[in-house]
Amino acid sequence: MKCPNCGDRTSVEIDIHSSGFSAEQSPVKECGACGLVWRIKMVGDKTEIDIIKPADKK
Ligand SMILES: [Zn+2]
Repeated sequence: MKCPNCGDRTSVEIDIHSSGFSAEQSPVKECGACGLVWRIKMVGDKTEIDIIKPADKK
């Protein structure tokens, strides 16, 4: 999974065991390069990037 902000591939998967997460949402990922925290959510038959925390650096 490529970082949607900087394109780096050193993403870290963050395991959040929360009851608020549904099957339509993938695990939260953090970019090891820029610090962006995001997850991919399914909207119909498309995927959408859901930014949780903006990148630390640009
Ligand atoms: Zn990044």
